[in-house]
Amino acid sequence: MRNHATAEEIEAVCARIRELGFTPNKIPGSMRVAIGITGNEGPIDPDLFARCPGIAEAVPVSRPWKLVSREVKPEDTVVTLPGPEGAPAQFGGGAFGIIAGPCAVESREQLMAAARAVRAAGARFLRGGAFKPRTSPYSFQGLKEEGLKLLAEARAQTGMPIVTEVMDTQTVELVGRYADVLQIGARNMQNFALLEACGQMRKPVMLKRGMSATISEFLMAAEYLVKNGNYQIILCERGIRTFETMTRNTLDLGSIPLLKRLTHLPVIVDPSHGTGDYRSVPALSRAALALTADGLMVEVHPDPARARSDGPQSLTPANFGKLMDSLRALAPVVGLRL
Ligand code: PEP
Ligand code: MN
Repeated sequence: MRNHATAEEIEAVCARIRELGFTPNKIPGSMRVAIGITGNEGPIDPDLFARCPGIAEAVPVSRPWKLVSREVKPEDTVVTLPGPEGAPAQFGGGAFGIIAGPCAVESREQLMAAARAVRAAGARFLRGGAFKPRTSPYSFQGLKEEGLKLLAEARAQTGMPIVTEVMDTQTVELVGRYADVLQIGARNMQNFALLEACGQMRKPVMLKRGMSATISEFLMAAEYLVKNGNYQIILCERGIRTFETMTRNTLDLGSIPLLKRLTHLPVIVDPSHGTGDYRSVPALSRAALALTADGLMVEVHPDPARARSDGPQSLTPANFGKLMDSLRALAPVVGLRL
């Protein structure tokens, strides 16, 4: 729709789409509303809409994922939350959003130490898993609701919105009561029931790329969320499984410029799971910034040697502070702000 299209004009186009037997999906933007059409089997003639008042352009979308594509919405989606000290915490629109914190919430002392440290270093979002998907059933599974309560406490103390994983449909409501951003993990990227449930939530979702998902499958998973009316989606590249075994995963940095061309959604990078080794995290973080990704998710633990999960890839607060200094120096060079 045009920049100044009225609500009536937008509604009239939606009504026209319904009249043709299809579904209109109104995608909000800062400048203009895009209306994606779904429910059609084959192509639709753009001329059917050519004379509707308020329309800027009717474009056939060639991609199987439609609502997340730049063809439907050329303008970047920006995800903004109220952040610490009254400043917004944001992904996209020139903001490089940084999520930091421990892999898992282990105790009040551990979480508060991590939260204070990452906040002091300049992170705007706090992460911490309360429900942990673990390869072994004998590994620490997370503190569950107790962990969510500790996250809420850390948010109250630091002002940082919290990002935490939701593992299944049964706990979407519970996790949604505490989280500011729902994280869908790599193992669940194609848990379609979970995608549908999170798509019905009206809070941002960070979707991680599955460990053997193609870009197309990744975008299709995001389409499930958006199709359900949730437009506040952040994509996270976290590495994929390849023949290489010396790194935990192969961080697919080449996916960043590609995703940014294909989709309007913000795209962030998780260098921690992407490599598995804290020594590689700073360089990969700077690479993500240089690629003009929309942010980072970094694991930070006050005492990585004693971490109950992902110690080897977790930065100490001191190393995270150094990383943040280098990112602050680099950001203006690529036209982003931390
Ligand atoms: C995590 O962020 O702690 C996590 C489990 O990540 P992933 O789903 O990418 O493995
Ligand atoms: Mn982890």
